[in-house]
Amino acid sequence: MTPTVKANGAEIPAIGFGTWDLRGAGAVQAVKTALDVGYRHIDTAAMYANETQVGEAIRSHATPREEIFVTTKVWPSEAGDGPFQRSAEASLKRLQVDQVDLILIHWPSPTVSVGEQIRTLCDVKKRGYARHIGISNFSVEQVEESVRVADEPLVTNQIEHHPWIDQGAIFKACAKHGISVTSYSPIGKARRLDDPVIVGIANARRKTPAQIVLRWQIQQPMNIAIPRSSNPGRIAENFAIFDFTLTPEEMRRISALARP
Ligand code: NDP
Repeated sequence: MTPTVKANGAEIPAIGFGTWDLRGAGAVQAVKTALDVGYRHIDTAAMYANETQVGEAIRSHATPREEIFVTTKVWPSEAGDGPFQRSAEASLKRLQVDQVDLILIHWPSPTVSVGEQIRTLCDVKKRGYARHIGISNFSVEQVEESVRVADEPLVTNQIEHHPWIDQGAIFKACAKHGISVTSYSPIGKARRLDDPVIVGIANARRKTPAQIVLRWQIQQPMNIAIPRSSNPGRIAENFAIFDFTLTPEEMRRISALARP
């Protein structure tokens, strides 16, 4: 079983499969491969235009639906009372599920107040469309305001987080309220996996740089990582991180790569 993160009543598998940019038959195949190798958490969004394919992969797989944690997101163009609920309904239809495990506000809306956004998010939970609710790309101030307005628990803030970006302030704000962080682009889109610190630790441990970065992610409290790959070998590689532990010194060396 995948280790999980517990946050405000939710229990979320610490590694999820990201699906941004996976489309058509390739998306179905990638999600099936992820389920085959053991992922039990799939991250999609209305904006990814692949909910139909994600739903198809989940339905056709032998793993029971209730063992798979499914997250989707509502795009800011649909913010506000009415459009937000309709977007959630359309996501359920495309995914062909009665309920998702988690629904997120994908980005804060530039036009609708945080208060109204959070009230419609809570309404979607009350209607039973999602077991849990959360936010994505919310700043420290927006997290604080969301918590003040919400009458249902927020379980995660999905943000960009990898060794080369300092997200300490958001982690702190979320932890104060029992909210987990879901790290997107968790291996930094693979752009800096040749970093000497990462490569040095990977060589010493006979792991790949991506595995070192993902292990660093999940060893941080209240942190979930959702790597994406279209390649079956790398999908499996990114999940094979539960048989070793980084030392506190290795964790510190990786964390020291962060820049504001
Ligand atoms: P990731 O950090 O997951 O990197 C993905 C890239 O890394 C792909 O190009 C992939 O290529 C490559 N890659 C994957 N595994 C390996 C590996 N083991 N070794 C070398 N290269 C590898 O970036 P994403 O931006 O996709 O983030 C992950 C997920 O987070 C998204 O898919 C989406 O679900 C979510 N997300 C959410 C956002 C939000 O606003 N809430 C914004 C951005 C992402 P290949 O396919 O060839 O393996």
